[in-house]
Amino acid sequence: VSTSTGHLLALIRSLGETTRAELASTSGLARSTVAAQVGQLLSDRLITESGTAQSTGGRPATLLRFNEDAGAVLAADLGATHSRVAVCDFGATPLVTEPLEMDIGIGPIAVLDSLSEAWDRLLDVAGKHETDVRGVGLGVPGPVEFAAGRAVHPPIMPGWDGFEIGAEMTRRFGVPALVDNDVNIMALGERSAMLDPPNDMVFVKVGTGIGSGLILGGRIHRGATGTAGDIGHIQIATAEAPCRCGNLGCLEAAAGGAALAKELTAAGLTANQSRDVVRLVRGGEHVAIHAVRRAGRLIGEALASIVNLLNPTLIVVGGDLAGAGEQLIAGIREVIYQRSTALATHGLEIRTSQLGDHAGVVGAAMMALDRILDPADVDAALERSG
Ligand SMILES: [Zn+2]
Repeated sequence: VSTSTGHLLALIRSLGETTRAELASTSGLARSTVAAQVGQLLSDRLITESGTAQSTGGRPATLLRFNEDAGAVLAADLGATHSRVAVCDFGATPLVTEPLEMDIGIGPIAVLDSLSEAWDRLLDVAGKHETDVRGVGLGVPGPVEFAAGRAVHPPIMPGWDGFEIGAEMTRRFGVPALVDNDVNIMALGERSAMLDPPNDMVFVKVGTGIGSGLILGGRIHRGATGTAGDIGHIQIATAEAPCRCGNLGCLEAAAGGAALAKELTAAGLTANQSRDVVRLVRGGEHVAIHAVRRAGRLIGEALASIVNLLNPTLIVVGGDLAGAGEQLIAGIREVIYQRSTALATHGLEIRTSQLGDHAGVVGAAMMALDRILDPADVDAALERSG
């Protein structure tokens, strides 16, 4: 049995709203121990006390809940050219967020300088001080060695290979800083916003390229070298276009936003990127609708195998091209239901992202919070504060 104050905080965080009596019965701790630990969490403002639970005959009990105002977290979702920055509360909710147009190819120091400036500005807007900041979470568009917070051979991030991003951010802000692949944090963000989060889900980002974040058994699955979920480079039998990775027939080279924009340009339309493709689809342009539906079917081909292999209960489609909505999803569904086994697709839900552009920053904040609020770390901090 886990008995520390940090574990009690984790329990309160997972219950949402609770009472001392419920905490004692759920944790198995003595009521006197719960009372002492709750007192410690209250005096450190990590939880709040308010209202009263419905009386069931006895004395009304005070409601306890996790204090989402206990601190702030700096979050960012970096893309090749478009990024998003946010200051979030302890519930991973963005207090203030804004897009940031920046080429990631200017290198890590210049990018982190711009991020620091943006965060300083957003802290002011949110009415928070730098001393409120307890953690930093960052998503980057490339593979990451998670434990080291380091980019590893990122194909579209020149100058970042081996750079210790987490360590550099900790040096700047004096708090824990966590870094992961952008699609992993989008998966985490989308999941954290659900009332009843599934244990097994796949988040597919369809933007310029295509990638996926895998949550298995309730945890991000990163794989041995941090490249798990890289479905953009799965080979599709019906495609044969050359890919930027050097292979032929990769999913991304046929169904990614860059490939579609190129295809539509060749057909005489104006499309430089994913967002232009979405604009044409929404405008009812038949060639664009046809191309997006075909892309959906190709993505469905790759996902059908993944459904058979991993048996998720939910597939969420995000990224710029998800703006094409049903035109993209219909093709994905069609092929998954055709190719995956009936048992694997039983109860499977396939839908677009609910958080849209914000999935990444919410997930980045959640990743940092899970570290800051880890029971052992909470206990250590409580000990320091006396
Ligand atoms: Zn490839």
